[in-house]
Amino acid sequence: MRVLYPGSFDPITKGHMNIIKQASELFEEVIVAVLVNPNKKNTFFTVKERVDMIDELYKDNPHIKVVSGQIASTDMAIEQDCKAIIRGLRSISDFANEIEMAQINRDISNNQINTVSLFAERTLQNVSSSVVKEVFSLNKDISRYVDPLIKEKMEEKRYNDRF
Ligand code: ADP
Repeated sequence: MRVLYPGSFDPITKGHMNIIKQASELFEEVIVAVLVNPNKKNTFFTVKERVDMIDELYKDNPHIKVVSGQIASTDMAIEQDCKAIIRGLRSISDFANEIEMAQINRDISNNQINTVSLFAERTLQNVSSSVVKEVFSLNKDISRYVDPLIKEKMEEKRYNDRF
């Protein structure tokens, strides 16, 4: 079975990567979907940069693919021939949002798309893309939150932005 893992991934964190790992142990193929969230205007990386980084991270794994678009995750799931959407849960507040989204996604896809929730690893429970960006902007080390490749890309961007 193919599943879609949608999100903003600005940037992808070790928390996201742990969910991808869990999903890839359960399903044959995991399609990571970088979706444009119209409510999040000030992004750190462009969609293309986010896709390229995820591609690079998983280039040796033929069971993990990355796509992007400015469409509903349910439409992307149908387009990609996925039966379900994967979501990662970190806390009770995630749960509250995710249960609502799961129900809405079921409604707007006419019961075609279900949601599978996977749980954050304890040590990664407080990791989010916003925490990464905040800690980075304070010039503190983000190694515990992101893969070395992502850290390097963030530093590159900070360096280039100086000019
Ligand atoms: P969104 O813009 O939809 O919030 P994100 O890219 O922030 O997208 O997250 C995508 C998915 O990954 C969501 O289901 C989110 O709850 C989950 N997620 C984010 N961080 C973690 C983490 N540290 N552990 C487990 N799941 C996570």
